[in-house]
Amino acid sequence: ARRDLAQTLRDLDGQSYGRYKSLAGAWDLPDRGERSDGGERGSLEIVRAQADPFAPPSRVRVTLPGAAPEELTRTPDRRRAHATFLLRRLRGALRGSPLQVDAGGQQVLARTAGQVREDGTVVIELGAPLPGPKRRILGREAATLLGETLPAAVATLRWTDLPDDERAAAVRFAETVEDAVALRDALADRRLVAFVATGAVLPRRSGIDDRPLERATAFTAPESLEVTLDTPNAGPVVGMGVPEGVTLIVGGGYHGKSTLLRAIEAGVHDHGPGDGREQVVARADAVKVRAEDGRSVVRSDVSAFVSHLPSGEPTDDFSTTNASGSTSQAASMVEAIEAGAGVLLVDEDTSATNMMIRDARMQQLIATEPLVPFVERIRPLHAERGVSSVLVMGGSGDYLGVADTVIMMSSYVASEVTEQAHDIAASTPGRTQEHSGFPAVTARVVDPGSLDPSGRQGKRRITARGVDTLTFGEDDVDLAAVEQVVDRSQVTGIGRAMALLGDHVLDGTITLAEGLDLLDAQVAREGVDALRDGPRDPADLALPRRHEVAAAVNRLRSLRVRSLRG
Ligand code: ADP
Ligand code: MG
Repeated sequence: ARRDLAQTLRDLDGQSYGRYKSLAGAWDLPDRGERSDGGERGSLEIVRAQADPFAPPSRVRVTLPGAAPEELTRTPDRRRAHATFLLRRLRGALRGSPLQVDAGGQQVLARTAGQVREDGTVVIELGAPLPGPKRRILGREAATLLGETLPAAVATLRWTDLPDDERAAAVRFAETVEDAVALRDALADRRLVAFVATGAVLPRRSGIDDRPLERATAFTAPESLEVTLDTPNAGPVVGMGVPEGVTLIVGGGYHGKSTLLRAIEAGVHDHGPGDGREQVVARADAVKVRAEDGRSVVRSDVSAFVSHLPSGEPTDDFSTTNASGSTSQAASMVEAIEAGAGVLLVDEDTSATNMMIRDARMQQLIATEPLVPFVERIRPLHAERGVSSVLVMGGSGDYLGVADTVIMMSSYVASEVTEQAHDIAASTPGRTQEHSGFPAVTARVVDPGSLDPSGRQGKRRITARGVDTLTFGEDDVDLAAVEQVVDRSQVTGIGRAMALLGDHVLDGTITLAEGLDLLDAQVAREGVDALRDGPRDPADLALPRRHEVAAAVNRLRSLRVRSLRG
């Protein structure tokens, strides 16, 4: 590693901006005085220098050997948690500086911006906009940024330099994440799909602020659904277990139904202490699906939900560039199942009414209805395909008879009303079941050549615009309705995963689901680095789930499906 980055920068003062490129490579981390533990100092690598002041910021990687203690490195979950803790701390330390650190939101995701290795090495990557407004290097300013601001901030990340209360907070953070993973891992054995701890705080401050609502009513598990799950750090945790099968969340408008479902949706990710949802977990294969009119569908088998179409098009090989509310939801449901979802999460607020219900009167008036409403398929979906559902439904009683469990929300308080619901269903006339079973969903073999992120000039284009849009080659993939995408860097990660599928995983003979299995295996081995284009890749990436990768593939308008496998 080269010495004295700051002096080198001062020497470059006034030279043409492009000379920043000469800094590429490893440097000694500029000294911040005597180190208390006499340990290794670390290094600062200019991974990529920007070509001009308007280009994306230069990428700087700081490596701090021995900066994390064994207690926080001994499992992958602890390392992910500690990396998140350090990134949040660093973001705080850099507030007001131009240095950019991708610390993310409320979730604890594996991300390229910060990693903790098994040997205690902490690796942080930041964006550093190098100063040079008139295309001349501002040497002094750059020297201050990389020689003082940055080293001072990263110095606050070393365990030996953390104040006692911050050490305690770091340990609590890691233990909380480890406990969340343990809670999630305990669900399958207990035949649960989700768990909401008593004391959890579910509502968020606003639609754009994911922090917990202040003065919210904390969650209390109804006695009949109360379960106790063991965690390694917090010990036994009491809460509501949502059983496998069909679960209905009912209640009056504005009483907290959607809030409960959204917390369950979020439970596929881990959250830090103070989030309110740190002990709210869902099975890792729980997938939110909703209506999304206007989306494209490429050769999906929607026959489970659409028996025939007035146009005569086949419903087991259905394509459209402009889906209706109901067909979009039908497609999203079967695609989630195809990609391996074990739990579907559905909210009436974001569903197509005719996809959800067809009541007794409408059955009399409209004899030939192409749509098979979810109420017909929701039980066989579990009985025959092993896929559970959690459904918010305050507007129709038709589901009362098909639910295994009915949870009522009343003034944000949950209670179980399964028996009453079944009594009502049994004693009042209802609809007639018109279909039976749940047909197998046809698997698709995707043309790998269609997962090509090349833009017009042949340059790769994979860019996130917020959490709602992924630019992938010449396509903009609309992810607004893919609600479990929580982080912009996850969107970029999804784009990378799609490119990886197209380049190396899919071969034109295996199905999309088989490709996702291979992708999962690679991610299990390599972590988020699996999505990088080599060690000098400057991108901020966060790890997406296979389900969100699949959702993006399915929304790619230029997707081609080579064949179907029945
Ligand atoms: P529903 O789906 O039953 O119509 P929502 O879940 O949308 O109701 O909740 C309605 C409002 O109540 C939202 O503004 C939400 O933030 C708020 N809310 C939900 N749960 C709680 C709670 N536990 N404490 C305080 N406010 C809550
Ligand atoms: Mg609602």
